[in-house]
Amino acid sequence: MKKMALIWTLCLTGIFSQGIENLDMVKEKVADYYENGQYHTELRKVIDSAYSILNGLNANEADAILFDIDETALSNYSHIKEVGFGYIPSLWNDWIKEEKATRIEPVFNLYKAAQEKGFRVIFITGRNDSQYTPTFNNLIAQNYTKFDTLITKPLKHSYTSAAEYKADKRSELKNKGYRIVMCVGDQFSDCDFDNYGFRIKLPNYLYFVK
Ligand SMILES: [Mg+2]
Repeated sequence: MKKMALIWTLCLTGIFSQGIENLDMVKEKVADYYENGQYHTELRKVIDSAYSILNGLNANEADAILFDIDETALSNYSHIKEVGFGYIPSLWNDWIKEEKATRIEPVFNLYKAAQEKGFRVIFITGRNDSQYTPTFNNLIAQNYTKFDTLITKPLKHSYTSAAEYKADKRSELKNKGYRIVMCVGDQFSDCDFDNYGFRIKLPNYLYFVK
């Protein structure tokens, strides 16, 4: 009883942090966002803006559009929810090996439209080289069957961030003769620094990658 009174008093005196939400409640809000249609509404708006840009472009032979994979081309929502909206590396690796991520339909349609306009498509992901084969298989299984290349992250590297890794790979693509006209990803780090063309930032309230 004394303890309850003390907690009540602490609440009244404002000792508990204000402005910080309870983690379980935040998880409920995030699940609701993804499951009640808000995610798709927001995603559609972004994809529509990508179409507006794409429709105004003419593809040259070297022009390429870059797509990130996780929460861009493919959704891992079911796995992420299953692990309580966390990240457990061993379970994440198992999930990738299962090749069960599902395509994000509006992104898939943008991918098809880009190719119909004559743009090359390149996938670049933070997944590493040891995850190349299941990632490739998962893309094919979800009908992403036509692309120039799939870039995965080397197991040994000196990159200090995802942004740095992706910028370096874009620089390599540029040196190979590609011109990147658009970069589609769910993280700002997917299309940072330079050489990314038009940036299409998709919503992601599940995690943040620097
Ligand atoms: Mg991603």
